Amino acid sequence: MAGIRSPIAVVVGHVDVGKTLLLDKIRGTAVAYREPGMITQHIGMSFVPWGAVERFAGPLVDRMRLRGRIWIPGFLFIDTPGHAAFSNLRRRGGSVADVAVLVVDVTSGLEEQGVESLNLIRARGVPFVIAANKLDRIYGWQSEENRPFLFAVERQDWHAVAQLDEQIGRLMDQLSRLGVEADRYDRVRDFAAQVPIVPTSAVTGEGVADLLLVLAGVSQRFVSRERLSVGDGPARGVVMEVKEERGLGTVVDAIVYDGVLRRGDTVVTAGLQGPVAAKVKALIVPKALDEMRDPEDRYKYVDEVRAAAGVRIVGEGLEGVVPGAPVVAVEGSVEEAMKAVGEEIAAVKIESDREGIVAKADTFGALESMALFLRQSNIPVRRADVGPPSHRDVVEAVLSRRRDPAYGAILAFNVKVPPEVEREAQSSGVKIIRGEVLYRVVDEYLRWAGELRAKALEAALSQLVRPGVIQLLPGYVFRRRDPAIVGVRVVKGTVKPGYTLVRQDGREVGRIQQIQSHGAPVQEAKVGDEVAVSIAGDVMVGRQIKEGDLLYVYVPEDHLKQWLLQYRQHLRGDEREALDEYAQIRKNWRK
Ligand code: GDP
Repeated sequence: MAGIRSPIAVVVGHVDVGKTLLLDKIRGTAVAYREPGMITQHIGMSFVPWGAVERFAGPLVDRMRLRGRIWIPGFLFIDTPGHAAFSNLRRRGGSVADVAVLVVDVTSGLEEQGVESLNLIRARGVPFVIAANKLDRIYGWQSEENRPFLFAVERQDWHAVAQLDEQIGRLMDQLSRLGVEADRYDRVRDFAAQVPIVPTSAVTGEGVADLLLVLAGVSQRFVSRERLSVGDGPARGVVMEVKEERGLGTVVDAIVYDGVLRRGDTVVTAGLQGPVAAKVKALIVPKALDEMRDPEDRYKYVDEVRAAAGVRIVGEGLEGVVPGAPVVAVEGSVEEAMKAVGEEIAAVKIESDREGIVAKADTFGALESMALFLRQSNIPVRRADVGPPSHRDVVEAVLSRRRDPAYGAILAFNVKVPPEVEREAQSSGVKIIRGEVLYRVVDEYLRWAGELRAKALEAALSQLVRPGVIQLLPGYVFRRRDPAIVGVRVVKGTVKPGYTLVRQDGREVGRIQQIQSHGAPVQEAKVGDEVAVSIAGDVMVGRQIKEGDLLYVYVPEDHLKQWLLQYRQHLRGDEREALDEYAQIRKNWRK
């Protein structure tokens, strides 16, 4: 028996934009306008039947000429808003979520985690709409409880509408820079080319009707019937949460998006160690509101669930299962199912020989988001896996560091670091960066890597002799030999004690012993400085060198090459001139 199921909808966006309140409002609408017996119960999802939407949004349904044209049974909203839940809704080549609502605060536009969510929405190819929330905070906006936006906008002062449009215009510009064309939904002409923006208020409920209707339109247009048609085959789903429940042991909260899951089925899913098989001992769903006699007794046992469904699975062998892992009911051989699940999770992990950092995350979804974000940030990854950092990760980081010291790092997203691994990392000089917010972890890594590279560069540069040209000042010969002490002006570049000086013809003059400025020794002299230098060697003023002569810092050949080919941009302008001049005169030596 094939049928069309409700699209699974997820709500994402930056913190505090109103995701939770908006979901509450939508669920509240479903409860208030539901028809008796229509609500099916789910773990982790809420069913919003189309009938309830129609009753709630009747006049708008007619205005938008949608009556009789909606064939989806309703929506299944994922109860947990946000990026973490969305990223765990993964399935091979895409998302278990059929549609997404990206919520932004209309007064502040798209923020960091909003961009992160948008990236994931696009990476997974999920059709979406944008809720421009907190409409009631537009200055001068007159709100009315639950009124459709389309009717509300006709009743406003022009300046409130102008302000709204200005904010929406800003949002459109921001999105456009990210490659997404969007417009206020009632102005969108081509939904295939533009993402609809629906102004909403989760506080007053204004625009919520519009949001649900636009979401229905987008679902019907961009989610294929094929994807939404479900059969009686073995269940396919994804693990959302893993919990310890008293008396039940480890239970898995899963979303089944295709097929039928039955008590007694064998399911294959995945843990830190790879695929695992378990026998389904019980399936649990919440009780309907009117069946619930006491709040302690909220759940009931069922024999089977049909997609799409949210269900708690009780079974033997579910310890260590990781959220974001696929869960499939076995039809043929368990081995084959284990192999298929193994291949699917291998697509999320990274095991490579190339150098790069080590990435660890708590769930498969988090790991996938992390890999995506690292790729976008041009950070190479040697190994990515779920679970806390381990001895092996430290070993891999040490191996990777041989190529670039900045690769000697483990990025731990949402996972704790065992103390013995922390110690081991510390003693082997591996940096562990841990955190709960992805972009912060990556930012901190980039900062650390930047500092490390700056230090390495500084160390490399400090080994190189810098180019310089000096001129002997007439009338400032303090001592003619052993050592010669003369007053000089630095014409270009830099000189330091220890540098060897040569004449224009390449003949060696001697080594700078000391540099003095106003009677005190200094560690270097730069372009424009007038200083006294003592030169040790077989040199006598008036013989090998004369007042007014130009002398050059002798730059060894391999240093010269490094300056010319690798580090030229780290020289000052006058040093670059000194370098070029030196390279030029050098061509005539030893001929
Ligand atoms: P979340 O972090 O995105 O889930 O945001 P919440 O739903 O927790 O809301 C964050 C704050 O914004 C709360 O104080 C809400 O009351 C407030 N808020 C949410 N939606 C609206 C809205 O439409 N209008 C106004 N004025 N405040 C809102």
